[in-house]
Amino acid sequence: MSQARIIDGKSAAAALRARLAGAVAELAGRGLKPGLAVVLVGEDPASAVYVRNKARSTVEIGMHSVEHRLPAETGQAELLALVRALNADPAIHGILVQLPLPRQIDPLAVLDAIDPAKDVDGFHVVNAGRLAVGQEALVPCTPFGCLLLARQALGDLTGLNAVVVGRSNIVGKPMAQLLLAADCTVTVAHSRSRDLPAICRGADLLVAAVGRPEMVRGDWIKPGACVIDVGINRVPHPTEPGKTRLVGDVAYAEAAAVAGAITPVPGGVGPMTIACLLRNTVVAACRQAGLAVPPLDF
Ligand code: NDP
Repeated sequence: MSQARIIDGKSAAAALRARLAGAVAELAGRGLKPGLAVVLVGEDPASAVYVRNKARSTVEIGMHSVEHRLPAETGQAELLALVRALNADPAIHGILVQLPLPRQIDPLAVLDAIDPAKDVDGFHVVNAGRLAVGQEALVPCTPFGCLLLARQALGDLTGLNAVVVGRSNIVGKPMAQLLLAADCTVTVAHSRSRDLPAICRGADLLVAAVGRPEMVRGDWIKPGACVIDVGINRVPHPTEPGKTRLVGDVAYAEAAAVAGAITPVPGGVGPMTIACLLRNTVVAACRQAGLAVPPLDF
């Protein structure tokens, strides 16, 4: 049986970061240093790791990075005041408030308070709406990273049958919009879809964003299809008691025996997410400064 080509998200992300570093150096010559502010409320260890990685990657490509760490008991009014101050700060072009937030804070109120021009997560309703109607938007990082990987694997996506499993606001829905804009014929499946395996078997391009370990089996995949696995699930290690390992939403070994190309977990979509956050910050900085956005994507 032939094996699928592995879509290497790590090297794709490194290539995007290198391109961004070049663009940032060029912008420096024109007096513009893109700045990203990341806000973390509370002590969630996974969030702390994400925030650290984001700040490190930002500095590595020559951008300005600011981290705000607030205690878990921070009130909503205090967080909103910080967001408003960052909205008004000319050195900051992108604002990211790390989710999840502690219970006393309404995440929608916070996302809504971010200036849409600085909303580098692309979660503000203004950016979601612009994406939906085909206007210039800041697009959520994970689905945009998936789009870049799909294009790298397949080239032009026009006319392909794309199936997105999952309809969350941060992955599934924007993914579907991006694929529609790329002229795919798009089906969005979810927990109430009937006969999911049959729906998936119709996909030339299958994006799994479900949050269920290895749910998509090998026999759900059309031979030769491109499979993008967004899932990040920690499960018990099969042979080493007490240890865990990361798996995606796709049963990788089975799927790789049928698919034409597939993203691994880890090392597929994950690395693209932060690279696309940096990309959005550069895009936001150029737009705020009234400069043309340099070509960044592949
Ligand atoms: P959500 O939980 O918000 O959404 C999951 C979606 O999957 C929902 O639309 C749900 O349907 C659907 N779903 C759940 N169970 C089934 C099922 N049995 N059959 C069909 N559909 C189902 O998750 P996210 O979109 O936030 O994340 C999805 C996955 O992607 C997670 O594993 C997450 O960890 C990962 N992720 C990875 C990122 C990265 O950087 N690589 C970034 C963000 C997320 P319904 O709407 O009907 O409930």
